[in-house]
Amino acid sequence: MTLPNDLKPSTIAAQAGGAIDRQSGGVVPPLQPSTTFLRDEDYRLVNPDNIYLRDNSDIVRIAENVLARLESAEETLLFPSGMAAIAALFRTTPTGASVVVQSGIYWGTTKWLRDFCSRRQIALHEVDAADPKALDEACAVHAPYLVFIETPSNPWLKTTDFAHAATCAHRVGALLAVDSTAATPVLQKPLELGADIVMHSATKAINGHSDVLAGVLATSAPAAKVWTEIKADRHDAGAVIGPFEAWLLLRGIRTLPLRVKQMCRSTQAIAEYLSAHPKVTDVYYPGLASHPGHAIAATQMQGGYGSLFSFLVKGGGPEALAVVGRLKLFHRATSLGGVESLVEHRHTIEPHTGIPESLIRASVGIEDTDDLITDLDKALG
Ligand SMILES: *Cc1c(COP(=O)(O)O)cnc(C)c1O
Repeated sequence: MTLPNDLKPSTIAAQAGGAIDRQSGGVVPPLQPSTTFLRDEDYRLVNPDNIYLRDNSDIVRIAENVLARLESAEETLLFPSGMAAIAALFRTTPTGASVVVQSGIYWGTTKWLRDFCSRRQIALHEVDAADPKALDEACAVHAPYLVFIETPSNPWLKTTDFAHAATCAHRVGALLAVDSTAATPVLQKPLELGADIVMHSATKAINGHSDVLAGVLATSAPAAKVWTEIKADRHDAGAVIGPFEAWLLLRGIRTLPLRVKQMCRSTQAIAEYLSAHPKVTDVYYPGLASHPGHAIAATQMQGGYGSLFSFLVKGGGPEALAVVGRLKLFHRATSLGGVESLVEHRHTIEPHTGIPESLIRASVGIEDTDDLITDLDKALG
């Protein structure tokens, strides 16, 4: 079933872009796990769209189309994890070229890039991209192949102006890629403001139920060289998502706009509550007027500022760990964007990255806002 073109994101998501099961009449699309597809007596493919599962999968195509519509992209590609998507993007970098990457972002990205770039003789320049002057200068000095930013960033919630980043990158012939995981396609659309590629860890809010690992890349220029190379890399190197994961992901996406709305509303209330708490010394959330990235976030995000925030507890590591230990609703676990709220003591996980011992990062789920505030209130004492 094809849906009209002018629908709002919540309609596209709720109806899975119009996907149903024609054969059974089911209102949800079927899960087809077959790795290979039949040919008839004359050796013609029974369904010309499907040959082999690494090449083709109906459910993967359906999920990709829904994500493309939500992102206002021409094309998207799903990967078995966010890191697999990032790796496919960076593997297009010519050996000997340079890349400019935002500093202080998702640690898994930084760690993999440092290793990959050193093995491939790629010069990696880590820059505070939320500082427009620093990004301008890095682009001018290094003339990179690719500029990679993450906004809002994890765990500092720095906001990078992606229209400005696109100008910096394009001036020197570089591509701009944006890790938009913490915002989801609901809250910001970097492709509309000049980004060449948008990346999400769909493991997070896009799936939203903490039960699928997935990644996505999106573009508005599917004929571009970088995109054809990424597509070939995914196909030939085999970083494809399985049909069951794609099916679950599509099911999660149906409620994405609804979940994001509730999560943003609660996170804003919690961030404001914590800002006024005597045992909290700082709160990092772009929805707060006091946040250095608030003005930019207000121009490039619509409908809220996401469900991720960090805060500093008065004292140090022991005080922060004691607060985390007393929480009853927020689960102590890594990751973000799920329907259940999570907290993480980042210093315990990555002590070598300069994260303050008093920092607690939280991801807000869809529980009742007051229940979450009460949980934090009791834990802070
Ligand atoms: C989780 C995450 C990733 C990596 O995604 P996986 O699906 O875990 O491989 C990349 N960037 C950000 C911002 C993330 O939160």
